[in-house]
Amino acid sequence: MNNLKNIFRFGWPYLKRYKGRLITGILLGFLFGASNASFVWATKTLFTRLSPPPSQEKLAADRAEQERADQKNPPGVFKTEAKKIQRYLESAMDPLLPTMGRKLDWRQMIGGLLLLPILVCFRGSVGYLNTYCMAWVSERVIKDLRLDLLHKLNSLSMDYFNKSTLGELMGRVNGDTQALYRCMSLGFSDLIKEPITVLAVAAALFWADWKLTMLSLMFVPTIVIPIRILSKKAKKAFKSGMQEGMGQDSLVVEVYSSIKIVKAFCLEPFQMERFKKIYDRLVRIGMKSTQAKELINPIIETVSVMGLGVVIIFICYTHKSIPDMASFLTGVVLLYTPIKKLGGIPVYFQQANVGAERLMALFALEPTVKEKVDATPLTGFKTELTFENVTFAYPGKSPALKNFSLTIPRGMKLGIAGESGSGKSTLVSLVLRFYDPTSGLIKIDGHDIRDLSMTDMRGQMALVSQDIVLFDQTIAENIANGKPGATREEIEAAARAAYAHEFIMALPKGYETRPGEMAKNLSGGQKQRLCIARAFVRNAPILILDEATASLDAVAEGEVQAAIDHLAEHRTVICIAHRLSTLTNTDRIIVMDNGRIVEQGHFEELLQADGSFANLARKQGLQAKKNLVAQRAT
Ligand code: ADP
Ligand code: MG
Repeated sequence: MNNLKNIFRFGWPYLKRYKGRLITGILLGFLFGASNASFVWATKTLFTRLSPPPSQEKLAADRAEQERADQKNPPGVFKTEAKKIQRYLESAMDPLLPTMGRKLDWRQMIGGLLLLPILVCFRGSVGYLNTYCMAWVSERVIKDLRLDLLHKLNSLSMDYFNKSTLGELMGRVNGDTQALYRCMSLGFSDLIKEPITVLAVAAALFWADWKLTMLSLMFVPTIVIPIRILSKKAKKAFKSGMQEGMGQDSLVVEVYSSIKIVKAFCLEPFQMERFKKIYDRLVRIGMKSTQAKELINPIIETVSVMGLGVVIIFICYTHKSIPDMASFLTGVVLLYTPIKKLGGIPVYFQQANVGAERLMALFALEPTVKEKVDATPLTGFKTELTFENVTFAYPGKSPALKNFSLTIPRGMKLGIAGESGSGKSTLVSLVLRFYDPTSGLIKIDGHDIRDLSMTDMRGQMALVSQDIVLFDQTIAENIANGKPGATREEIEAAARAAYAHEFIMALPKGYETRPGEMAKNLSGGQKQRLCIARAFVRNAPILILDEATASLDAVAEGEVQAAIDHLAEHRTVICIAHRLSTLTNTDRIIVMDNGRIVEQGHFEELLQADGSFANLARKQGLQAKKNLVAQRAT
């Protein structure tokens, strides 16, 4: 019950958008449930008509007994009225239905042929329409929910994505919502149809003979306890199943995105071992969940048949007629399916609740980097980008940047050097506002970047990083990602500027090629030039290069460097270099160590100073020109 409340509270904002269909679906569910009762009535009516008519003496005896009973216990208004309606219905139906011993006419023949098909068709149609409406609503609810979920994920900051694995994200977007979908489309429609069926059929049975009904239903309450226990078990199994399923997804992503290393180090057997462990656990969990789900059926079956046994004995004992017996059997059979389904519903709800709980937890998360409600718009980059005493630490770590101050005037080409781990990429992440500084300020044109509109602020920047990221879209679309709505001319101009046009045109499908399908035909350098074309089309005043050529070989680096130099013209550039020789043309270089600037100056100056920059440079075979001359002289 708690599950239901939880799911409903979670789902209502989505459900209420489709109120019309939802209500129609519920009403159809009611009709479906109620239509089941008509079968009890139909069987009884048909069997009464098909049995040989009782003898006059028996009828008289029955009537006398009824009168005696009525005198002892006068019938209430309700009973008299109901009897009247029943008699009216019977007399209205009489000319349309065949009776044993009466001559058949056309109407009775057609009535006899069509009575059951009409009832079955009606019940089937409303059942179908009910399921259709519920699925209509559920499909849309899940679509909205998934979009909201992705929206939420997009709003979350980098710290969330640093923490979660890809498998986890996939589990949220697919698995959790899928459980809710199943619960809504199957669970919700069963939740209406089946209880109504039970009530309607039970009412019809009570109507026919309440004593017999009480007897046949007396075991039903005993199934509540096993259902409760089993559905709890199912929830537990489902929860750990989700967990393991996510682990499996993560592992697939991990292993196959690093397949080169796996192969090179012959790690296949070890990875298989990891998979095997997960699958072993999945087998155990799968069996537990099957036990929980499938034990419910035999329990319900046994209990219902026990009720039937009592009915048979009772009928023998009280000499009830065949029509009574037949209508009772129909009733019990009709009750059997809904009770069985009702038994399964808690399992759906338990599962959906697991999903809902996890999604609620996700929806409750707040991004650590938030845009202000009244964010200031920013139309361009005019004067300078400044860091004022910025300190930043990743959660639970010592600061990666310490009291960092720096001014980058518009048009400056700034080089950043430093050992790996010295905080260079962190600096870039802060400029792009992936994180907010722990203390201190970052300003663009005098505005604290936390006050600026995120889109405007990031719109002034183009990033080319060492990870070459292309989406599974055509090359044209990939380049256009730099500037939504870019025209074909702009895209081609950007590709030309990035020295990419030629090789793109040489591809069989040209700009319509997807990098994925051409992965083998595109070299690393070519892919990086597509990324540069993307940065070109953005035409942003600030260009951020984070070791853009680090993952490339010497030849590719040469090709890409030419494109980068072209892109850097007339822009403010922050260039993190892994190869210091690429910094020769910068206006200034800062050298970082352990989150601080330890040296700064022009390329030659720094080499001459023989400090940490010169040290780094020596490792890469670079030396100051004067030293070089001196060396040659000796
Ligand atoms: P660089 O780019 O100069 O190699 P980084 O800025 O990437 O250095 O890293 C600076 C420090 O911050 C390192 O000690 C690194 O371990 C740490 N670091 C970087 N990224 C994260 C992260 N996402 N979570 C926690 N610590 C990080
Ligand atoms: Mg880095």
